[in-house]
Amino acid sequence: MSFSNLGLSEKVLAAVAATGYTNPTPIQEQAIPHVLARKDVLGIAQTGTGKTAAFVLPMLTILEKGRARARMPRTLILEPTRELAAQVKENFDRYGAGQKLNVALLIGGVSFGDQDAKLMRGVDVLIATPGRLLDHTERGGLLLTGVELLVIDEADRMLDMGFIPDIERICKLVPFTRQTLFFTATMPPEIRRITEAFLHNPQKVEVSRPATTAVTVTQAQVPAGREAHEKRELLRRLLREAKDLKNAIIFCNRKREVAIVHKSLQKHGFSVGALHGDMDQPARMAALDQFRKGELPLLVASDVAARGLDIPEVSHVFNFDVPHHADDYVHRIGRTGRAGRTGTAISIVTPLDQKSMAAIEKLIGQSIPRAEGDYEVPAESSEASERPREQRGRERSRGGGRGKPQRGRDRERSHEPREARGEARHASESRPSSEARQPAESRHRSDDKRRAEPRQAARQQANTSHVPSIGRPEPRRQREVDTEPGDHSHLPAFLLRPVRSPAGA
Ligand code: AMP
Repeated sequence: MSFSNLGLSEKVLAAVAATGYTNPTPIQEQAIPHVLARKDVLGIAQTGTGKTAAFVLPMLTILEKGRARARMPRTLILEPTRELAAQVKENFDRYGAGQKLNVALLIGGVSFGDQDAKLMRGVDVLIATPGRLLDHTERGGLLLTGVELLVIDEADRMLDMGFIPDIERICKLVPFTRQTLFFTATMPPEIRRITEAFLHNPQKVEVSRPATTAVTVTQAQVPAGREAHEKRELLRRLLREAKDLKNAIIFCNRKREVAIVHKSLQKHGFSVGALHGDMDQPARMAALDQFRKGELPLLVASDVAARGLDIPEVSHVFNFDVPHHADDYVHRIGRTGRAGRTGTAISIVTPLDQKSMAAIEKLIGQSIPRAEGDYEVPAESSEASERPREQRGRERSRGGGRGKPQRGRDRERSHEPREARGEARHASESRPSSEARQPAESRHRSDDKRRAEPRQAARQQANTSHVPSIGRPEPRRQREVDTEPGDHSHLPAFLLRPVRSPAGA
């Protein structure tokens, strides 16, 4: 099947050809004809499948006819995060270069005034996050009654972020007769309910999970003690010893952890950026840009901030924390091994993560090899030696020393200096809940709060070294074992020890 059989306009086909794509991906092949036939579409597909172009290309074809009126956008695309919204806009800029379309982005962290002026000029495509969109409608600067086509992208992530009530409100503000394109990676009951309420006779198109196609990713799990400093020490070792590491994303479960790991890696001489939900928009964009260009080869990120980012050629993914949701694992490792390239995904696994790992292995239908043995953090390690000698002695005598599981979250935190803990200075940073679980209401307000507050994250970003190497050379411990030849060449040497099967696998 070629693009020319899908019913796209000449202009759009020319733009696709200029991009260098020869064949549509399965989601494009299935969805584009339905979109052009003005049917509702329920697309079950993840990022990495080409689903953005599956709605952008037919929308461009449809939008060739007609004109936009002031404050009344013709089409509306809802995205869960600002980065995804910006990425969709880039797609319109790329494929719609030959058309004079007005594409506006309504995302938090950008001034209302500029956005308002754009709306006033008339918008063909409005790409928005739900909170900022509703802010504009409530101010009276935006009317959704002219929307002919609505795209709800990453719906299951919207659900995770507490945006479903907002989505329902928005669906009631657009005309009943609109065309709706709805994309989600999974179909939990709440999402099913929404599709039943707001889609009319949808054409269902489904493509397989990237997990089933990402055979080019070498996966491994490395056991670690539950102490945070042990995990950081192990991470540094993994980074230093990884073979062929070109660039890597290091995932943490919480934004506070992102800040701590980022700071700790910087302190140890690594060139690293950070991406989490409390950073303001320019800082997030700057971090991403530096990572894309290779100026910062490492990026510590949270799931929400990194979801769906189109970053080609990531050689390694590290799970500093095992994700609580198995789906997130699939998304994370989907950042590497894209488009047939090889990649490596290494998870740091504490005894508390066993359940999550079992759920992940069940979801992806394969067991993830475990590294055996020599992962322990030496007592003389730099972070361990920053703590008082007696305390280290106490830890060891309690049997919780190197690499062994330890109990007590308070103790885990108390022996780190405040700075190293990255202790929250803003109320928003100290919230214990994950940003993914933050209710929609407070997220809207926090946009404004983030604008008003000094930006620690932005300052950290500005101080970040631009050295395009992973980190300054540090002496390695001479504990490598003989490496086996073969296809595990991207793994650190100590991961190449005999592997034992996961329990129950
Ligand atoms: P998405 O799932 O929309 O995030 O797209 C994932 C990646 O696939 C992006 O880098 C796109 O530029 C790329 N892509 C989209 N469509 C095609 C295609 N037909 N052929 C090759 N690459 C594509």
